[in-house]
Amino acid sequence: MQKVLIVGGGICGMCAALALSRKNMQVTVLERDGPPPEGDADAAFFDWNRRGAAQFRHPHAFLGLMCNILQDNYPDLVEAFWAAGARKVTFDQMLPLALKEQYIPVEEDKKLWLLMCRRATIETVLRRYVGAQKNIEIRNDVIVNGVILGNAEQEGAYPTVKGISIRLSKGESDVSIIEADIVIDASGRTSQFQAWLAKEGVEIKEEKEAAEIVYYTRHYQLLPGVEEPSRHREERSAGDLGYLKFGVFPGDGGNFAVIICLPDGESKLRQAVKNAEQFDEIVSLIPGVLPWVSKDKSRATTPPFGFSDIHAVWKHFVSDGKPQVLNFFAVGDAAVRTNPLYGRGCSISALHAHILADVLEEIKDPIERALIYEARTEEKIRPIYKASLNEDRQGIQRAKAIVEGRIFDKANTFKKWLRLAIGDAVGAAAREQIHVLRGAMRTFNLLEKPGDFLSEWPIRLTLMRYMLKGREQNAKARYQPGPSRSEMIELVDKNRDK
Ligand SMILES: Cc1cc2nc3c(=O)[nH]c(=O)nc-3n(C[C@H](O)[C@H](O)[C@H](O)COP(=O)(O)OP(=O)(O)OC[C@H]3O[C@@H](n4cnc5c(N)ncnc54)[C@H](O)[C@@H]3O)c2cc1C
Repeated sequence: MQKVLIVGGGICGMCAALALSRKNMQVTVLERDGPPPEGDADAAFFDWNRRGAAQFRHPHAFLGLMCNILQDNYPDLVEAFWAAGARKVTFDQMLPLALKEQYIPVEEDKKLWLLMCRRATIETVLRRYVGAQKNIEIRNDVIVNGVILGNAEQEGAYPTVKGISIRLSKGESDVSIIEADIVIDASGRTSQFQAWLAKEGVEIKEEKEAAEIVYYTRHYQLLPGVEEPSRHREERSAGDLGYLKFGVFPGDGGNFAVIICLPDGESKLRQAVKNAEQFDEIVSLIPGVLPWVSKDKSRATTPPFGFSDIHAVWKHFVSDGKPQVLNFFAVGDAAVRTNPLYGRGCSISALHAHILADVLEEIKDPIERALIYEARTEEKIRPIYKASLNEDRQGIQRAKAIVEGRIFDKANTFKKWLRLAIGDAVGAAAREQIHVLRGAMRTFNLLEKPGDFLSEWPIRLTLMRYMLKGREQNAKARYQPGPSRSEMIELVDKNRDK
């Protein structure tokens, strides 16, 4: 059995531990935070100290890609999510009213489902499930603080990781060394491995681009006896006002969260949503959100809180066809990050963990392992990263257009115009044409390479028809009813002067 150390026991660390244990490897997970507290999902949400995962209390939706990986490989784990209050949101439950009436189920719809619950709930169940596997040991309250390379001085040899150094997060603790055959970095967005490796002369190149947005969350709970508002209403509970994106994330046990996403430049609105009263006032003005947050329907359970410093990040572990380091693999956020607005991070993590497990099972030569892992990561995950990056860039352009009073972003080349016009047509057609919605949902759920559905002829023909209506007409479908930017700023100014 190969001895594998996984640094980080978040979503990806846990998925990697599961996938590797099924390949007959002996896995130890080292996690800086403590275990979930005893008790139910509320105890985990309110009491679990998760300093290591700053996004822990922001709402998460788990897309079809992750759901299907878990369902296919660990059906009993998915059953445990249901038992803890998580919910399955199926394709037909997500249909707008007009499409609901003409809906006829097809086989592929079974794959188009989301798992919804607070991240605290899913993480607690996942941790307990992983901790009960016989090949896996989880060591909590252990901070990894360095990497050990075996042959750093040997000329011509590939740098090879032999282990890591740790200290305990509680009380006095000396640094100690743990050796391993393989070290996996699943320490998330704050991973230090790049810096530690750089000190040993190993350069991991990185692409990094700001999304130029800030993300705010507030949690609520439905009052006793209050039913969730229907999903099949005209006013959607998630969408875009142009200058502000919003979303309701239904969770477990009557809990739900509302998010607001603002461009970096919207400083007045950004300041306002930090204030609990103003947050409520702003979201109450959005018709799709009001039925959730009105005072007779729900109560807030947390203040609003934000998440900034959002970047798309891609790390390269192979340079000029050569691995930069052997016996070391980064997975999940430690290797690839996308804008949380798209909800792709956990699905990428689950996929990445399973890619790694397959490579480690199939290939024994350390150099080939590193090369094949990089190649499969490029093949399967790079298209998702690129699509996310393009969406970020487009979002930045759209935010600028809205400030300048235009409904859509301008294109300066025909190629760009065509891409934008197709995007607008997809947005409009997906509201009215079920075959287009189905295709778009395959891409949304990461069940196909982003945009693959656009190569299907029935979809192409429909989109051509929509393109004839013009960009302005189609772009309108993207935006939800709600106050204009100037109305919202006026409200904020009035509240500030009170
Ligand atoms: C605001 C926000 C909202 C998001 N919403 C969604 C969503 O709706 N859907 C979705 O799929 N994704 C979402 N994501 C992305 C998702 O949270 C991440 O992609 C996912 O958690 C990545 O898993 P990970 O295991 O790589 O990292 P994490 O889950 O962050 O786990 C890293 C773990 O490593 C531990 N650790 C760190 N350093 C050390 C160390 N030195 N020693 C020991 N342990 C260490 C941490 O304590 C943590 O447990 C969101 C992200 C943000 C920021």
